[in-house]
Amino acid sequence: MSTKPMKPLKKPQSAQVQVDLRDAETIKCNDCNNYLFITSFILKKLSAIVSPNGQEALIPVQVYSCGNCGKVADGMLESMNLEEESNTDKFPSLDI
Ligand SMILES: [Zn+2]
Repeated sequence: MSTKPMKPLKKPQSAQVQVDLRDAETIKCNDCNNYLFITSFILKKLSAIVSPNGQEALIPVQVYSCGNCGKVADGMLESMNLEEESNTDKFPSLDI
């Protein structure tokens, strides 16, 4: 008896994983608790120096931002190397 070569397992039933979304965490906006997000794009400008084709390029990066206050969901910006002004706990002064 020889072991069979690795073969993807085929299940007779549809391989769709049943996920109960009630168990999944709903991401909410940190600022306003809103849970509806809209897709937005961060545009990264690639300077001609580092661009592979030597030309300035705009690279859109899709993120999700709060549909209410516009804040981008946590964790989305970390890889973008963006400095968020609201990172400090300082309460912004209001100009009234
Ligand atoms: Zn919000």
